[in-house]
Amino acid sequence: MTSSSSEHATDRIDTRLQHIGQAPLDPITGAGPVALPSMRTSTVRFASMDVLDRTQAAKQRGERAPTYGRVGLQTHAALEDLLCQLEGGQRAFLAPSGMAAISMALMACLSQGEHALVVDCVYGPVRYLHQTILSRMGISMDFVAPSLDRLQAALRPETRVLYLESPGSLLLEMLDLPALSQWAHQHNLTVIVDNTWGSGYIYQPLALGADISVVAGTKYIGGHSDLMLGAAITQDAALVHKLHETHYALGSTVSADDAWLAIRGARTLGLRMRTCAEHAMVVCQWLARQPQVSHLFFPAWPGDHGHALWQRDATGSNGLLSVAVDFTEPQVRQVIDSLRLFGIGYSWGGYESLVTQVEPSALASHSYWARVADERMKTGTVLRLHIGLEDPADLIADLRQAFAA
Ligand SMILES: *Cc1c(COP(=O)(O)O)cnc(C)c1O
Repeated sequence: MTSSSSEHATDRIDTRLQHIGQAPLDPITGAGPVALPSMRTSTVRFASMDVLDRTQAAKQRGERAPTYGRVGLQTHAALEDLLCQLEGGQRAFLAPSGMAAISMALMACLSQGEHALVVDCVYGPVRYLHQTILSRMGISMDFVAPSLDRLQAALRPETRVLYLESPGSLLLEMLDLPALSQWAHQHNLTVIVDNTWGSGYIYQPLALGADISVVAGTKYIGGHSDLMLGAAITQDAALVHKLHETHYALGSTVSADDAWLAIRGARTLGLRMRTCAEHAMVVCQWLARQPQVSHLFFPAWPGDHGHALWQRDATGSNGLLSVAVDFTEPQVRQVIDSLRLFGIGYSWGGYESLVTQVEPSALASHSYWARVADERMKTGTVLRLHIGLEDPADLIADLRQAFAA
């Protein structure tokens, strides 16, 4: 963390998010900008060889002491500090995308011949990472239902990692993170959690028992659909060392301008998340009254299967939801094409509303779907919506005309 973190007089994250990474004042004039500039550089310049040696020594001790541009200077350090404060971590390691942060965390914790248990509600590309790269390196993975029985049955002597995502991708399945982490620690597994949904603001895996939190800053932290970014955050000294090594060896780097955009986005993280969550709740209230809607997947919704876990473990909600509808495949395509305010596209966490269809093959890979879907849901289709900052009355009017079409 940068020295500024110790000066924060409050634990309240909304205040901290406005004060992390303030630009320093000029020691002579006593004046300076409010916002920290984007510190672009490819390398670091030292006043003397002694200073260089001291910096190298600090780096060897594992401190954040840049000797080269790859890890970045003040802008990167401020973003790392911000992510540590959000997630309750000691160090954050930046990556050029959420997926790059996931690969970095997995490669830091797994070696040839080892095995990871991965919950089957995981972000789809993690399966692709295993199929394409990790399997080739002799690392095996099992994708299993997030229950202690199933995990216990799939545990092997060479299992080293439990990889979770809560709530899970596509159907927002809430996991019992404290129970899963406790079980994993009994078996000496490192618990890695994809916390893109919570982004440290409404959900804190490290406080719930995880060892590494991974977040796609591409989503709510950036918040404006204009940058790609990821990070792995931990409070464990041994994992700091492993992540540091892997981050450095892989050459993962983030442009100062993207780090700067992420800091700018994070200033309004709370405002945006709260407003998206409010709007999503209003949209859910409308959706729940529609005869074509059979189920809402939204942990803050009282009818969601994970609602009690959400109440216990999360401190808020956001704009992401899925909805099971009675439409056939051609009908759902027509509904999506009829929407005017919702962009058709993947991703979420920006200022704008988006819609996609959840692929039937993706549903089939989530054991949660088999557990919760009744006959009616199985004959229908599932839409995923990101509810943005537009007026919810307009979003509802748009959905109404599309459902009628
Ligand atoms: C988008 C997403 C990612 C990947 O982030 P990128 O920056 O697009 O690589 C990882 N996990 C979850 C849950 C996501 O939604």
